Amino acid sequence: MKEALIFDLSRKGRRGICLGTPDVGSKPVEQLIPEKHLRTEPASLPELPESEVVRHFIRLSNLNYHVDKNMYPLGSCTMKYNPKINDYTSALQGFTGMHPLQPEKTAQGSLRLMYELSEMLAEIAGMAAVTLQPAAGAHGELTGILLIKKYHDSLGSKRNKLLVVDSAHGTNPASAAIANYDTISVNSNAEGRTDIGDLKEKLTADVAALMLTNPNTLGLFEKDIQVIEKLVHDNGSLLYMDGANMNALMGITRPGDMGFDVVHYNLHKTFSAPHGGGGPGSGPVGVCEKLVPFLPVPAIEKTDENGCERFSMNMDKPQSIGRMMNFYGNFGVLVRAYTYLRMLGADGVKRVSENAIINANYLLSRLLEKYELPYPEPVMHEFCLSGDRQKKQHNVRTLDIAKRLLDYGFHAPTIYFPLIVSEALMIEPTETETRETLDAFAEAMLAIADEAENNPELVLNSPLETPVKRLDEAQASRKLNISCPGC
Ligand SMILES: *Cc1c(COP(=O)(O)O)cnc(C)c1O
Repeated sequence: MKEALIFDLSRKGRRGICLGTPDVGSKPVEQLIPEKHLRTEPASLPELPESEVVRHFIRLSNLNYHVDKNMYPLGSCTMKYNPKINDYTSALQGFTGMHPLQPEKTAQGSLRLMYELSEMLAEIAGMAAVTLQPAAGAHGELTGILLIKKYHDSLGSKRNKLLVVDSAHGTNPASAAIANYDTISVNSNAEGRTDIGDLKEKLTADVAALMLTNPNTLGLFEKDIQVIEKLVHDNGSLLYMDGANMNALMGITRPGDMGFDVVHYNLHKTFSAPHGGGGPGSGPVGVCEKLVPFLPVPAIEKTDENGCERFSMNMDKPQSIGRMMNFYGNFGVLVRAYTYLRMLGADGVKRVSENAIINANYLLSRLLEKYELPYPEPVMHEFCLSGDRQKKQHNVRTLDIAKRLLDYGFHAPTIYFPLIVSEALMIEPTETETRETLDAFAEAMLAIADEAENNPELVLNSPLETPVKRLDEAQASRKLNISCPGC
């Protein structure tokens, strides 16, 4: 199952392609490049025929786990299947051949796409306007917080605190800190939802906003959202929604209608741009009417020119927080999200959320046989189990269960998050999995629970079937070594 390094596969003199003689100018290239920039010896590159290069990378891709191979139940990450038509459209020459500085009048199609995508996102979340600039969810959070700051500044109101609920994604307090706010953690109650009593206590006059994730990272809908909204707004604070979990809400309910002032979306989660591995993402931000003047520039606007729609970029927004990104954000991701939404239509978008919810509840009902659910409530699009029973009774930890899942051919769920659940196993199946796949995953999880009971050593020593066995994770992150031996 191991794959040799491409350098070890190299054999002197083998060639993939033969380059013709370059015909730049009238002289040979060696004479065009100043002598001091010329190599004195050939670069140490592997020498292989094209066929061997292709096979090498295909074999590597087979060692990798990816969503095109099997279910990827990573909670809070929405690893849904990404329809290939999204990649097709984003690779169309009309888009890839664009230059970011080309004149507006020659970029009408791309500007229209961005304008219409922001309109669709605004409609889905019930917000007045949306910026597409931020490059990730966390970047959207930072953008949202800077908008909140600018809003309070414009009123001359000094507020230096942001409230974040303790089940929130780690990016929430991190974004708050980057924007120079003090973060105050609000407790969850015994139900796993925001503790209203604790919120009241912490909602002082210096609070700029409450950051809330709805549904929260336990997959639970914040039922008291109307009470929370009133408390926050009566205090002169704003309400921020971490909308990474929009997969549970689309077409059913809208953050804007719940009274949220700012929301970020994750196009690379809900709106099906491939993610993982740190590739380009997109975290648009939607705002309510009173925050529109502060949105980043350029704003993409539509005008009517003698009955003809014209799209333009407006840099002239005196109250804007400025740019959050070079040019317009990660455009290829925007094309994917646009395609996804146009393919689905309004009914399709609603079905996505309905199916995400029913898949999560179905899978949960199957796993309850062997695993603890610390907050026993019907869930939205994901749920969070605890491996406490396995740990207490058999000394098998959640990490061991996650490792053993790899032997069954599944990617592990998110583990040890959110922090309020001990031995957390956070599972999000998404709407794109069939009942058969959900059953296969449930059976693997139940089989592992049996192994923990009857043969704990097996689970503790897993994975056994993967190309690389159990890694020392602490060493791997503290002493990262990704260079090839001998290079
Ligand atoms: C993924 C996620 C984020 C952060 O998004 P990135 O694109 O990874 O920066 C924030 N909050 C929640 C709830 C998330 O699931």
